[in-house]
Amino acid sequence: RKEQQAKLAALPTLSSDGHQVELAGNIGSPGDVAAVLQHGGEGIGLFRTEFLYMGREELPSEEEQFQAYRSVLEQMGDRPVVVRTIDIGGDKELPCLKLPKEENPFLGFRAIRLCLETEEQALFRTQLRALLRAGVYGNLKIMFPMIATLDELRQAKAVLAQEKRKLEQAGIPAGAGIAVGMMVEIPAAAVMADLFAPEVDFFSIGTNDLIQYTMAADRMNSRVSYLYQPYNPAVLRLIKGVIEAAHSHGKWVGMCGEMAGNRAAIPLLLGLGLDEFSMSAPSILAARECIMQLSQAGMEELARKALSMGTAEEVIALLRQEAGRRT
Ligand code: PEP
Ligand code: MG
Repeated sequence: RKEQQAKLAALPTLSSDGHQVELAGNIGSPGDVAAVLQHGGEGIGLFRTEFLYMGREELPSEEEQFQAYRSVLEQMGDRPVVVRTIDIGGDKELPCLKLPKEENPFLGFRAIRLCLETEEQALFRTQLRALLRAGVYGNLKIMFPMIATLDELRQAKAVLAQEKRKLEQAGIPAGAGIAVGMMVEIPAAAVMADLFAPEVDFFSIGTNDLIQYTMAADRMNSRVSYLYQPYNPAVLRLIKGVIEAAHSHGKWVGMCGEMAGNRAAIPLLLGLGLDEFSMSAPSILAARECIMQLSQAGMEELARKALSMGTAEEVIALLRQEAGRRT
């Protein structure tokens, strides 16, 4: 069994009809990289950088961040590493910023909103400088969280370009050709994906938040968990639209929410055309095993059926039936 696992870890992720996708890992710190590699991760699809900021009195310096990002990139070699800029607020509090309490933190001053609006954008600029400098040491891709409007994306990209220019002017090496993408986790961005696509290098769908905002159901509230449903056709239609919009502009789409690592969801996501699946390290090998047994063309047919359904229950029944046929 161990030998089999090691073999599987070294294989590319190909469907039975030869369609290739990427399986990547989600990490929260440089110490998590080893497990992703061990489990056959082909990249990092989401590096949540909040760990650098949480549970401490002072903000991390540019140098401290640079070291952390560089460590992840060096451990990953040529493999792609998607680093998400800080996504605080909502469920992730940050004591060192002393932000006032909000009535609806999930709908409040968080993530990119805070990065663009805090004084002189110092927190954001420090992180971007650290990232640009680290970009010299590997295959870095920068991703912005919680983008709702084109203006936010354009502003974030402009700040990144300014910091890059400043580094160049100071003669400090910065990574060249770093891809820039965004999370699609707010329905507004999903609906407008055709207009976002030309302005990014990639999308990564954050289903954890996309589901809660689409269904207006708090991801932490068990009273409404019946609404918090990845298989609700409304969610599936948004995912489908995002992938189509990206592909029609020649861009790739990943998913870094929990749904990407869910065995039941993988056939459907493969059929919807998802290019990269990012999940916790222990889920990677099972996901590869699953995809190798699926035909992409067959899953496209499955996805078409699912998209025509009216309820999550019907979609779940369809997926069960399909899984039953395969075993
Ligand atoms: C998501 O929203 O799906 C996501 C990956 O981000 P987080 O869980 O960190 O909010
Ligand atoms: Mg999120």
